[in-house]
Amino acid sequence: MVREDEKGIPVRVALRCRPLVPKETSEGCRMCLSFVPGEPQVVVGNDKAFTYDYVFDPSVEQEEVFNTAVSPLVRGIFKGYNATVLAYGQTGSGKTYSMGGTYTATQEHEPSVGVIPRVIKLLFEEKQQRQDWDFVLKVSYQRQVYNEDILDLLCPSRERSQISIREDPKEGIKIVGLTERNVTCAQETVSCLEQGNNSRTVGSTAMNSQSSRSHAIFTICIEQKKKNDKNCSFHCKLHLVDLAGSERQKKTKAEGDRLREGISINRGLLCLGNVISALGDDNKKGGFVPYRDSKLTRLLQDSLGGNSHTLMIACVSPADSNLEETLNTLRYADRAR
Ligand code: ADP
Ligand code: MG
Repeated sequence: MVREDEKGIPVRVALRCRPLVPKETSEGCRMCLSFVPGEPQVVVGNDKAFTYDYVFDPSVEQEEVFNTAVSPLVRGIFKGYNATVLAYGQTGSGKTYSMGGTYTATQEHEPSVGVIPRVIKLLFEEKQQRQDWDFVLKVSYQRQVYNEDILDLLCPSRERSQISIREDPKEGIKIVGLTERNVTCAQETVSCLEQGNNSRTVGSTAMNSQSSRSHAIFTICIEQKKKNDKNCSFHCKLHLVDLAGSERQKKTKAEGDRLREGISINRGLLCLGNVISALGDDNKKGGFVPYRDSKLTRLLQDSLGGNSHTLMIACVSPADSNLEETLNTLRYADRAR
């Protein structure tokens, strides 16, 4: 199924810089990033330039991000490619805004709608045009919290210990014990997103502080069967991931449990960086990719590299007060290319 021209680009990186937020403006923050018109380049201060597959400056809106970088992945699903979109960056950099993680139906026609609802809309439009195929679509929504525990956002009362990662010969990596909901239209799919966002998980503190230290993973599994040819069928997976904040936990602020959380989450992000870097390294082609080092990379194992397309949206703030974390993100994203 892999076409020659689409091989060898397992991961693309989009750098997205949000505008200054009102708090930064009122605190007198300055922009420390600049952009080169017509070039996918961002310049830090006066001289240090980074180049990515795409660079979206603060003026670029959700629709353009989607049309440019994300919609090809959705179309790829119908050619048999798995797809993964990851939002990476420090807390407050625009990951949830970009992914559209807090979508509610009242926003339907607003330009601020992010990746997930737009993916869902396009997915069902494309499906509609394939009347000679049968489709079965299933949605799951999980949060990977500290200690890499998995919470089922579509069934919050479920025991964490009953959820585990397995490999299925037909469907690939599967999470056993995680709710999978059958969906037949965009509206049903979007309600799963809304429901998952509203679920208050057992034992959690405020949703906000929790979300900055956990990975939210919205997954759509798509089974496609040609109507007049029983032998022609395939399974694809689409993972849409709002990663945990990439900021280093400061030892003076985080203690005990919170410190452990910080370290554990960083391990997932660290492993992800190692996996993506190994995939992109020509010298390592066919070599060892350390998927098994974290639950995050284990889950994404069959959706990163191989027969899949991955987009990492690296989100940054333009404010000089965030320069250090912004540089960390630029470097992390640079390694991924
Ligand atoms: P994160 O999920 O990375 O912690 P958020 O997505 O919550 O960050 O974004 C932080 C703030 O910045 C929010 O108020 C959000 O609305 C705003 N924001 C982020 N990206 C943009 C953007 N591209 N345009 C306008 N506002 C944005
Ligand atoms: Mg967020």
